[in-house]
Order: sequence, then C-alpha cells, then structure tokens
Amino acid sequence: MLEDAKMLTFARTALKNLFSRPATVGYPYEPAKFPQRMRGHIEIQTENCIRCGLCMRSCPPGAIRVDKAAGTWTINRFDCIQCGSCAGACPKKCLSLVPGYTEPDYQKKEEVFYLPEKAPAAKPAQTAAKPAETAVSP
Ligand code: SF4
Ligand code: SF4
Repeated sequence: MLEDAKMLTFARTALKNLFSRPATVGYPYEPAKFPQRMRGHIEIQTENCIRCGLCMRSCPPGAIRVDKAAGTWTINRFDCIQCGSCAGACPKKCLSLVPGYTEPDYQKKEEVFYLPEKAPAAKPAQTAAKPAETAVSP
C-alpha cells in the first residue's frame, strides 16, 4: 500500500516536470538576471574617497589596499567574500555592493583605482571688522 502511494507521488512529480518550464537558466548562452538586492561586487565612487583606510581595516580577507601616498584604492575581487563590511565602515558612503558577478579569470588580478587629488582646504572666512566704537561724552 505504501509502495503504491510512493509510486503515485513519483509519477505525479515526473508528469508535472515534463510539462513545466525548466528550473535552470541557459547561462552563459542567455544573459544572467540579477536580483535587485544581490550582493554582487563592490564599486567605489573615487571622487568621494578621503583615503582614510577604514575599508581596508574592516575587510576580513584583506581584499582592499589603500595607499595614501600613491593615491590608489586597490581591490582583489577574487579575495572578496561580498560581506559588505567595507561599505558599512566607509564614512563617506562611497562604497556599495551592486548586482553582477566578477568576471572569471585565469589569475587573481587586482583592480586599481586612482583617487583624485584632495581639494585644497578652504580658507577660514575673515571675521567681519568691528564697527568703530563711538566715544560717549559725559
Ligand atoms: S565586501 Fe567584505 S570582503 Fe569584499 S572588499 Fe568589502 S569588506 Fe572585503
Ligand atoms: S573607507 Fe571610504 S573614504 Fe575611507 S579609504 Fe575606504 S573608500 Fe575611501
């Protein structure tokens, strides 16, 4: 009796799968579709970076390197585990996790971004001259 029930379930599942669309996708022959909130890869807006190095210090596998003197931000995408720690630590919010996988490669290459020169610090505004005090005669 139990065997019959199992056979019936199997036959029902097999028939359903025969007439339904495949659960797999045709990648790489069809373009991959990424979910909106996917933790794909890290992107940087270099114009906002202040070279503080907090992202480098917060990265568990050490995938980021910030060279203040050379003005570079470097990432080894094959070491990155998409944890998002760097994006959370960045005080200028210039790092973000965006959908899309890192392209496969034969070697663990690093990607180097050149940071723009810092803008010269603005001079403090001069204090307004005090109005001349008027002498009050007794
Ligand atoms: S997402 Fe995580 S592993 Fe990847 S660079 Fe940022 S801190 Fe490092
Ligand atoms: S934490 Fe942000 S601002 Fe600081 S070095 Fe990294 S990317 Fe630049």
